[in-house]
This record gives sequence, structure tokens and C-alpha cells, in this order.
Amino acid sequence: MAKAPVEAPAPLAGAFDVGGFRSELLRWFNENARDLPWRKTLEPYHVWLSEIMLQQTQMDRAVSYFERFLLRYPDIVSLAQAHEDEVLKLWEGLGYYTRAKNLLRAARVVLKEHGGTFPANFEAVRALPGVGPYTAGAVMSVAYGAHRPAVDANVERVFSRVLDIDRPVSAPEVKRRILAAAWELLPPGESRAFNQGLMELGALICAPRSAECQRCPVSRHCLARARGTVNLRPVPKPKPEVVRVDMACGILLTEGQVFIQKRRPNDVWPGLWEFPGGVLEPGESPEEAMVREFREETELSVRPEGKIAVVRTSYTRYRITLHGFFCRAEPGQDPKRDHRLHEAVEARLVSPTDLLTFAFPSGHARLTSRMLEDVRLQTLLSAVD
Ligand code: SF4
Repeated sequence: MAKAPVEAPAPLAGAFDVGGFRSELLRWFNENARDLPWRKTLEPYHVWLSEIMLQQTQMDRAVSYFERFLLRYPDIVSLAQAHEDEVLKLWEGLGYYTRAKNLLRAARVVLKEHGGTFPANFEAVRALPGVGPYTAGAVMSVAYGAHRPAVDANVERVFSRVLDIDRPVSAPEVKRRILAAAWELLPPGESRAFNQGLMELGALICAPRSAECQRCPVSRHCLARARGTVNLRPVPKPKPEVVRVDMACGILLTEGQVFIQKRRPNDVWPGLWEFPGGVLEPGESPEEAMVREFREETELSVRPEGKIAVVRTSYTRYRITLHGFFCRAEPGQDPKRDHRLHEAVEARLVSPTDLLTFAFPSGHARLTSRMLEDVRLQTLLSAVD
């Protein structure tokens, strides 16, 4: 059985009723656990997939993606054999595409190093691409019943209130204290239900903005409730400054097709497809930026042929306004032959409807939909270059 780290500070006061907390939480979870698709089985592939999807994704959204993903890749071997473009397309709309790329890389590691069987020890799971201590703890405890805590954002919030911690949960010493508390409270032989119970409590009762303390199964153990500080916990961490960015891109039409390029592996949105474009420079109009960016990224000179739409999207602390234009190559240039890529690894000319089979960052995906609905599209496509 794994032990709590020796350097962990004592997290719980002597009077804390450990046995009462455990039994009250477990009873509540047994009676209130939601019926979620990944809870129908203890298959480690399902548990791992759900945990990766739930990072930075709302539960309802994750459920539909999870079910579609399993239809396409019913086991880890079928995922390991998938093409990356296909996985990214299936992931489109979930965001944080590095998760999808790591999922595929991890599946290949499982196939190559573990013969296609998901590993059953913490260190091997933790070593998989995209798996941190939380995910490894969750997979080990939920799939295998291992004695491991799983501390996600929901659990951090619960502990910040139960222990009435007056520092942000992002502080390293607070993280250590919460992890130590999670180890101390973990009931031998019941980690599967206990870890899920803590997460469920944070999701359903001890919610970020509205803790329902009168319904809470562990309210008698909660220091924040006793002290009247529930609304002050967790202490928020300083918010990063929001940065507003204006961008422009061009949808180049030529001979009934559209020019797209594939982003480099080490860029933001690695491996996704896009329309060439970039950030407006000071004093530049969106059309001017689109023409300049197109030239810098592909060495093609283009002229705008009308605005398609302006779409707004977010990426971490960036609020992006994306101006999309139809455009056409200047006379004498053949986009297929004359492009030279400087910000991408591959370019293709595809029919507009085939665009739906490629994975794009959300702003470009929304521009694609707007373009396909645009009544000017067929006229522009049939015009001679
Ligand atoms: S009593 Fe309230 S604040 Fe404390 S753990 Fe329960 S829901 Fe959260």
C-alpha cells in the first residue's frame, strides 16, 4: 500500500473526525452518484479517456464527446492505430488540442511498451504523455481500486473550505497541505468511491459560486461553514490580465477549391489546419493584415474579395477577434505551384465541403461554417482566376 509523503505537513487538527467524514461522504456518494457513461465500467481506457476529456471541459460536453470517441475507437489499440488528423477532427470543439495529441501518443506507448494493455501501476500511468499526478491517481483508484488520492480542482475547493485555508489553492504549500489531507482521509479499500465522492461533492454541492451547505453530507466537519467564511474560500488567485487581439485571415479560392495549411507541431494549436493569416499590426486594416500575412506565410500575393464574417473566440487569457475574407491570388500566380510555406508544414487545396473533414481551431471552424452558408460562395468559386 502506498504511503503519504513523509514531508507532508499534518493537515488535519487532532479533533478532526476522520472516520465520520469518510463514512458520511461515502454514504452520500453511494446514494447520489450521477449516472455517467464512464461509470458503467472499470475499464482503465474508459476511465483515462474520461479524465483527459474532463480537464478544462464541462461535464455535459464531455459526455457526448466520450460516447462518440468510443464508437470510433472502442479500445486503446484502435486508438493507437488512428491517424492524428482523424483524432484531432473528433476532438474539434473540445479545445486544448494538446490533450488529443497526448492521448494518441499515450495510446501508442501503451501498445508499444505494454502490449496494448493499460498499465496497472502508478509510475507507469504517470509516465504516459499528458498524464499528471491527478489523472494517474484517478485512473489508479477508480479503475484498479489502488490506495491513491486524486486531487482535482473540485477536491481542492472542498478542502479549501473544509480546512478554511486562507491562501489561494494554487500556492505550492497549499497544494501540499491539501494533498496531505487527501492522503490522511483516504479510507483503506474505499479509494474508488471516496475519490469520486469528493469530486462529486465539489461538482454538485460545494460548487464554485454556490455552496449548498444545508445539503452537504460533511458540513459538520467544515471549518469555513463554522466560521462563516464559505464565500471567501477558496481565496482567488490574482487573475491574469485579459489581452485583446485582432487577427485577419484569408480564404483563398482557386479553381473551385480552398487553400488551407497545417500548423507546425510546436505552435499554438499544433497540427490543426487553418487559413493563412495573423495579428494586425498597429494602424493596419484587417484587409491589409490579411494580404501581408498571406504573403509572409506563403509567398502568395492575394487580393481581398469581400468580408465573410467577424468571429470572436478565446484562448487562455486572449480574447481574439478574427476577421475572415474571401481572397483570390493575384494574376500570374498559381497557388498550388507557387506557395512557399513559412509558418506551416503542409498545404492543400480542397473542396469547400471537404473542409468539414479537417480539424480547425474554433475561430477558423466557425469561419468555415459561415463561408459555407454564404450566398456569394458559389459565384466566387465558379469565377475564373
Ligand atoms: S459545508 Fe458547505 S462549504 Fe463546507 S464542504 Fe459542505 S458545501 Fe462545502
